[in-house]
Amino acid sequence: MKCIGLIGGMSWESTALYYKILNEEVKNILGGFNSAECILQSVNFEEIEAYQRTNEWEKCAFILNNAAKNLEKAGAKLIILCTNTMHKVSHLLLRDVSIPFLHIADMTADEILKEGVSSVGLLGTKYTMSEDFYKSKLIARGINVIVPDEKEQNTINEIIYNELCKGVIKNSSRKEYIKAIDKMVKNGAQGIILGCTEIGLLIKQKDISTKVFDTTIIHAKKAVEFALK
Ligand code: GLU
Repeated sequence: MKCIGLIGGMSWESTALYYKILNEEVKNILGGFNSAECILQSVNFEEIEAYQRTNEWEKCAFILNNAAKNLEKAGAKLIILCTNTMHKVSHLLLRDVSIPFLHIADMTADEILKEGVSSVGLLGTKYTMSEDFYKSKLIARGINVIVPDEKEQNTINEIIYNELCKGVIKNSSRKEYIKAIDKMVKNGAQGIILGCTEIGLLIKQKDISTKVFDTTIIHAKKAVEFALK
């Protein structure tokens, strides 16, 4: 089993899910007392979130690059970054790092194509929904990407930062998400990407009839698959 390096803390609410899924998946596959060999480098999200807002992505990248180098030095054999949004700087994060990096959007695209889905709705932070760094990875694989309108994007984004990243789960917010999902389905989405690692805390497959692609679950399971190969 290869040691999995996690860059977490963005937010820790979802990093805790990663840790749980990694271990459950190893146990499911290997049985017995088997659990995931992993190293977590968790950053202070207060700093990261402030740099996002002031558009100082280079500074975020510096922190994440240090984390990645620490993981490699500590013996990790692969790296996963436990947030969709911060993949915006994944090319900078990987400077002077030579172990493999499993990009969350690539892993999600693999899963979407495996399910035979060609058009998806994307939920995430405003950065993930409105910018190209994430969508372009899906589009390059031939997947059509639908996003909520600007007003809905703002609501979805506020719920992520003001509630989900702080562990606050509200029924009223779930309803907002389902409203946006229904609209994307009407516009042709055959699947919905939970493209923020905390959304799985609010929306589960049982809440909607359209196929859900939960990036936290997909990413963690792919890391295990890679670690056991
Ligand atoms: N965890 C979130 C994501 O997957 C958002 C928090 C962040 O800004 O990293 O995008």
